[in-house]
Amino acid sequence: WAGERGRTKYPEAIVNSGTLTTKNAVMITANNVDLNNCDREQVQFSGAVQPHGAMLVLAETDLRVLQASANCATLLGTPAVDSLLGQPIEHALGKDVARDIRDHLARAGTDLDSGPVHLMRATLAGSVFDTFIHRVEGGLILELEIVGSETAPLLDLFSQLHATIGRLQATRGLQAFFDLACEQLRWFTGYDRVMAYKFMDDGSGNIVAESVADGVQSYFGLHFPASDIPVPARRMFALSWLRHLPNADYEPVPIVPALNPATNGPLDQSRGLLRSVSTMYSDYLKNMGTRGSMVMPLMKEGALWGLIACNHSVPLHVPHERRMAAEFLAHMLSLLMAAKEDAETYDYRLRIGATIDHLVRSMAAEPVFHHGLIKSEQNLLRCLNTTGAALAIKGELFLMGRTPGEVHVKNLIGWLGARDDGQAVFGTDRLSSLYADASAFQDTAAGVLAVRLIPHRPDYVMWFRPEIGQIVHWAGNPDKPMESTEVNGEIRLSPRGSFALWKQSVQGRSDPWTNVEIQGAADLRRAIVEVILQQAEALDQANRELSRSNVELDSFAYAASHDLREPLRGINNYASFLLRGHAEQLGEEGRAKLDTIVRLTKRMDELIESLLHYSRIGRLDLSVVAADLDIVLDEALMTLAARITDANAEIVRPRRLPTINCDRIRVREVFVNLVSNALKYSKGTDRCRIEIGSTEADVTGTPVFYVRDNGIGIAAAQHERIFDIFRRLHGRDAYGGGSGVGLTIARRAAERHGGRLWLDSALGQGSTFYFTLAPEAGPAI
Ligand code: ADP
Repeated sequence: WAGERGRTKYPEAIVNSGTLTTKNAVMITANNVDLNNCDREQVQFSGAVQPHGAMLVLAETDLRVLQASANCATLLGTPAVDSLLGQPIEHALGKDVARDIRDHLARAGTDLDSGPVHLMRATLAGSVFDTFIHRVEGGLILELEIVGSETAPLLDLFSQLHATIGRLQATRGLQAFFDLACEQLRWFTGYDRVMAYKFMDDGSGNIVAESVADGVQSYFGLHFPASDIPVPARRMFALSWLRHLPNADYEPVPIVPALNPATNGPLDQSRGLLRSVSTMYSDYLKNMGTRGSMVMPLMKEGALWGLIACNHSVPLHVPHERRMAAEFLAHMLSLLMAAKEDAETYDYRLRIGATIDHLVRSMAAEPVFHHGLIKSEQNLLRCLNTTGAALAIKGELFLMGRTPGEVHVKNLIGWLGARDDGQAVFGTDRLSSLYADASAFQDTAAGVLAVRLIPHRPDYVMWFRPEIGQIVHWAGNPDKPMESTEVNGEIRLSPRGSFALWKQSVQGRSDPWTNVEIQGAADLRRAIVEVILQQAEALDQANRELSRSNVELDSFAYAASHDLREPLRGINNYASFLLRGHAEQLGEEGRAKLDTIVRLTKRMDELIESLLHYSRIGRLDLSVVAADLDIVLDEALMTLAARITDANAEIVRPRRLPTINCDRIRVREVFVNLVSNALKYSKGTDRCRIEIGSTEADVTGTPVFYVRDNGIGIAAAQHERIFDIFRRLHGRDAYGGGSGVGLTIARRAAERHGGRLWLDSALGQGSTFYFTLAPEAGPAI
């Protein structure tokens, strides 16, 4: 599901593989159905050893025997165990071996607190033993382990180890790293199965890598609930670097006496090599067809990160040298793995950063920035390794990949808005525990990571993750009988049982959002906000430039028209002078031409006057006062009184106009322009009827004024053109003539007030001109 989206190979391989097909899979577990039993069991006080060695507990001061495993006599050839107690070590192991032990002990010094130290090899009762010693409360534990038949040449092991570490360092990615580590560990130890097991944040775990011998069932990809590896077992793993159980079928050998005489308590074997394991553990191993096993912890920053577990179907006693090599490798794994994991996290962080950069470029290139965000939907998904994403912006919703339905996402946005805690980023891997409605869409969004783009606005980028159980495939045969086994009335879990338990424990949960992802989401939000701000800034800049160039244009128009008037007056004066003083010489034709010159200069003067007027409206500040528009209209009609009478027009004023803040001179001018046009352009129609009024149609309460006539009307195609300066739709002198600036000036006056001026008209249907004198409420954003 995530493979082609560049998810790192490591987690994806785990998720994709679902190769559980067989019996038991948990490599170490002391698990029965009452898990609390297990958590309480104090596995370090087992009071017994495994039979592949013998143990003596010695007083540190004089090496007197305090406790001994019951097999000392048979295995080491010592006198009867009871007779050893209280005696010096010489009595148990003979003078020679005892002397060697004392010598080696003196050399080993005091470094006995961190677990068994190998002292020497000793021959006792015809067998060879490796001897180990370490300190516990109450004395020194001397362990003598039988040396198996095969002893590996150390030099070979060393060079192999050396080569392995080199290869591990060179691997790319955690997956390859663990694959190689398992393979090499199997080579070192001879087990038929070696697995790397990783703990998740909630304590559950899964098998992330595995190496198996031919014909051995794979457990790769299996998940286990946290309870499968109980707390005491974990504590033990963190304490000792290697846990060796050559034969799960062993008979435990009791330690005599049961209580340590120095402490009067049970012997703490936390670090002991021979410690007998919990019967629940050994039974469980047997239950899953394993006889030989070995477990090593993987530590990261002092905490248990995971385990390396080795299994063998028949008993396997791994010689000390090989165990040392394996243990050393496990140490190296812990160190290298931490570095690899950090590198992988770092890579992911870089990848998120690169995707964000890409998104930012793509947003900046689009006039509407969020189109850049959704342009390549893979980008938003890839950004955080998710299967689904959504973008809610300015009332629009875009869904990408696998997401809940639109209605669900909208409701979720509503819920997010309502729970707003002021944080820009919100993430959860168990949404339905906070928001019950989410249980309807676990298959797409059991987890959500949401960033709010702008405070108090329902604008979000969201990523979704499906429920974990839904993405882990169960490839096993569901009819396999091995669900659980009952031993002495105790029900033991099988892998299938474990898997079911784990599935239950992850119900309603998605893969968690990592810190890197949360940080990435916050980074993307910051980037988007920056783009929004930049675009707003650019718009602002454009507006400022526009108004500046308007002012410049107005100043230019003013200066030009002002300067043009001088020479024009000169032409007019000289032409009139010629007409008056030299009429005789000019003759009929000359006079007519001069008449035209005078007429044209007059007309040009009018045009210049209009232009001056137009520029003045743009340049000069409005003088805004509270004005009763009814009175302003009275004044306008007064100016037009003669023309109204001439046209025999009917003026209708359905109701009083309101008092509003405006520049009354300019508004009077608007009324004069509109009413005079209404008078002009009704010639040839029925009796001219002009209605002037206002409506409260606008939601903000900004009144809309109108002037309606029953005149000749204007074709829709001309509705905008009539506002061009000097534009007339008719011949120069038709309809009483005009300069074509009246509407341009009227519109500009309305706009200077923050309002607008528009019309509704059709040819032959009369016209209604509308205007406002304040900004109207825009569409809600
Ligand atoms: P002018 O009236 O001086 O020509 P305007 O700018 O006032 O200039 O009007 C531009 C054009 O719009 C007019 O020439 C006319 O064709 C058209 N017009 C304006 N008002 C009306 C109206 N009430 N009815 C029909 N046409 C009109």
